[in-house]
Amino acid sequence: MSSSMKRSWPATLAARLTFWYTGLSTLSFLLVFILAYYLVSAVLLQQVDDDLVEDIEEFNSSFRQLGLEGMWTELEDEVAADGATNVFFQLFNVDADSLRRTADTGWEDVPSPPFESWRPGEDSDPILRSLDLREQEYQARTVYGEIDNGTNRYILQIAEPLEERAEVLELVAGIFLFSLPVFLLLSLTAGWHMSKRSLQGVEEVTATAIEISNGAIGRRVTVGDRGAEIDRLAATFNGMLDKIQILIRGMREMTDNIAHDLKSPLARIRGLAETSLTSHPADPAYEALAGSVIEECDRLLHLINTMLDLAETEAGLRPEVKPLNLSALIRDACELYQDLAQASAITLHCRCEGDVEIEGNRQFLQRLVGNLLDNAIKYTPPGGEVTIQQSLDGDDVLIKVMDTGPGIQTAELPRIFERFYRCDQSRSKPGSGLGLSLAFAIARAHLGSISVDSAVGRGSQFTVRLPLQSR
Ligand code: ADP
Repeated sequence: MSSSMKRSWPATLAARLTFWYTGLSTLSFLLVFILAYYLVSAVLLQQVDDDLVEDIEEFNSSFRQLGLEGMWTELEDEVAADGATNVFFQLFNVDADSLRRTADTGWEDVPSPPFESWRPGEDSDPILRSLDLREQEYQARTVYGEIDNGTNRYILQIAEPLEERAEVLELVAGIFLFSLPVFLLLSLTAGWHMSKRSLQGVEEVTATAIEISNGAIGRRVTVGDRGAEIDRLAATFNGMLDKIQILIRGMREMTDNIAHDLKSPLARIRGLAETSLTSHPADPAYEALAGSVIEECDRLLHLINTMLDLAETEAGLRPEVKPLNLSALIRDACELYQDLAQASAITLHCRCEGDVEIEGNRQFLQRLVGNLLDNAIKYTPPGGEVTIQQSLDGDDVLIKVMDTGPGIQTAELPRIFERFYRCDQSRSKPGSGLGLSLAFAIARAHLGSISVDSAVGRGSQFTVRLPLQSR
């Protein structure tokens, strides 16, 4: 990854979606909680206020029935019953002068009323206030209301701590603090699960694309019930692959047809060159010219034959297979290439004992082994070593061709089995770039595989894996 491409955190889309999902749902949870908290707090306060106003009305009727002293006795009784800190009464005249008050334990710093005189008439609705008193653990609520028996008018103040309300609110906050981590965990799990599920289709498309880039051009993504967007992506991807495959097939057919059509004229040119070689035996200029024409024709015919063989093998038609002694075939090939190896000052080792039998096509397997040996000898510099080794691995037989040559660059490794691909460093050597693609197609036609392990300066090792029994 180039350093200029900055990646935002987190890197995967699934993690990002989870992050956003959790963040937004926690924020909504918080907002809902704040709203609920204020709603509960307002409802509870309203309830307290209603009770206080009701109390004023009750004491007003006591005042009418029992007079001031009778009413005050009732007040004192209530203070005695509830406890001095839990309720407080104070009586004012209409000029807001305090006339008397109940025991003021906890109510020492009750402020003076919020009016200088009580106006009769419409404005005489009870006044409600919250009080923050030093001696009280909780906030308190107070009401100033008019009591009137027709002859006398007074202002009665009733105050009580908002203890119950505070306790309920504490409970609500407690529930919130407890449920927040649980909610966070749940939304994190749900978010992760949901984003993973919705991205599963994308993962599948990626996996298929990887398989295709490794050669499985026939693979397709299954179009299922993963949501319209993902299914559309899968269908578009499949459609694109179909088009590419048709294009590739068309190109292959065209090259194969060209190869086929070139074969006859080339054979004729070769024939003409041969004729002119025999008809002008004494002319060295003609001889050299005709010789090189024949040589070039042979090279081109070899290339064309290889292309046609490759086309046939790649067409997927199973070659005719018969039981054959693979060990003997390898030993024969080794013997055949000994001269070439010697001429290039290369030691060729053949580690192939026993008589391993497989079901295969002799001609094809000879070309497969021949191509690998030919490459190893061709690319290994003089003084090097080439080894061909046969071994058994479960139900398969392995043929390894190892050399002490220049090796292949990692970036080029996946491409060497492609048609006409030649590594940069080997362009000076003779070759067509078709040998390994043919070897690959032959291994595949035998339900086997071919792989390479190589690094620059370390030599190369080609491994062919063939099943012992043709399945
Ligand atoms: P070519 O006709 O060029 O040998 P192949 O298909 O046989 O074509 O091989 C493809 C390319 O792989 C070659 O051009 C060469 O660069 C590389 N290659 C194949 N075998 C070897 C080897 N044993 N050592 C180094 N490079 C190799």
